[in-house]
Amino acid sequence: MSLRSQFRSLIGQTSPFALELEIAGADGPWLIDPSGKKYLDMISGIGVSNLGHGNRGILDAIREQSEKYLHTMVYGEHIQSPQILLAELLVSLLPPSLNTVFYLNSGAEAVEGALKLARKFTGRPGIISCKRAYHGSTYGAMSLMSDRSKTDPYRPLLPEIHFMEFNRLEELEKINLQTAAVVMEVIQAEAGIRLPDPAYLEALRKRCTETGCLLIFDEIQTGMGRTGSLFAFSPYGVVPDVLILGKSFGGGLPLSAFVADKKLMAVLADEPPLTHMTTFGGHPLSCAAGLAALNQLVQTSLVHDSISKSDYLVKKLDQELFPALRRPPGLWLAIDLADPLRVQQVIARAMNKGLLADWFLFNDESIRLAPPLTIRYEELDLAAAIINECLSLEKSKSPVLS
Ligand code: PLP
Repeated sequence: MSLRSQFRSLIGQTSPFALELEIAGADGPWLIDPSGKKYLDMISGIGVSNLGHGNRGILDAIREQSEKYLHTMVYGEHIQSPQILLAELLVSLLPPSLNTVFYLNSGAEAVEGALKLARKFTGRPGIISCKRAYHGSTYGAMSLMSDRSKTDPYRPLLPEIHFMEFNRLEELEKINLQTAAVVMEVIQAEAGIRLPDPAYLEALRKRCTETGCLLIFDEIQTGMGRTGSLFAFSPYGVVPDVLILGKSFGGGLPLSAFVADKKLMAVLADEPPLTHMTTFGGHPLSCAAGLAALNQLVQTSLVHDSISKSDYLVKKLDQELFPALRRPPGLWLAIDLADPLRVQQVIARAMNKGLLADWFLFNDESIRLAPPLTIRYEELDLAAAIINECLSLEKSKSPVLS
């Protein structure tokens, strides 16, 4: 039986249209299949491999930590230096009110933790989320999803969840004295990279402060350099009460966290204690990898350089072949094609030609590009050439698979 048929029979599937790319190796921005064919990874595992595959510093950190110890006790009991070193570096890069780190494994788990923190701290029930946001697939995180076609089969969801339109000032009135928290992506990822107006974020912060609810920024996808700054919120100057990190935060290993002020975080520790727990959260291996990754981001010019790399890529793309493009300053692009079928065709063609691009969960009219920040200029040349070719091929109505 081939590995592909075993994959189909043995592995629980998430959709009927899996990519089914068999991975034999990965190096820098390249994924390699068993035949030796190389694919330029312009997705980074949906914003995880921001430092590329097989990153030497991260692998060394994992090896060194693995020789000391792996798991020793459920989270929060033992003192493990990788957790502390990573938290120390992380909070040194954040505003003073974001000074305490609660580690978990996945993005959704960190969202769950932040929701519990908000309800316990405020004693209020309401949570406000934005339409077309994605915060994860566990029950609480999924309850923050406005798309009923995806959530209906799983109802009942968490109660007291309300939705507002992203970037719409008048919708901020939905935040009231019953609201425990507003959970928001600073830049909406799965909606197709939707950037906020700075004035909107400022008004949001003001409204949360006035009503006494917590502002929670989900930077699971935008964080760790993806948007041209270490965190997407920083250039806007709007500080959340809780910051959620995941994906690239673990340097390729499972790691997430929510970060808040000590006085907020303290509510999870007592009255009653032991009401938010995890066995593996903040695993020493993940924290060692995350620390190595974060050190690279702050000690090199990778994040800063990603802005000129993004500009370079955009200049190389033939703008006549698509109606619009959205992006923050960094290496994260949504190419609008205004046609879902065309999006699928271009992605399939690009894969044939050795380039991996992706679509968005709540926007089927755009192509997502999110390469590792370590990608080189000559690789961007190649990426642009393949994308231009695939876009122009589509215009001439050639078959999907070439
Ligand atoms: N929040 C955002 C913005 C995400 O993009 C994702 C995953 O794509 C999540 C939360 C959920 O993260 P995880 O898949 O690690 O649970």
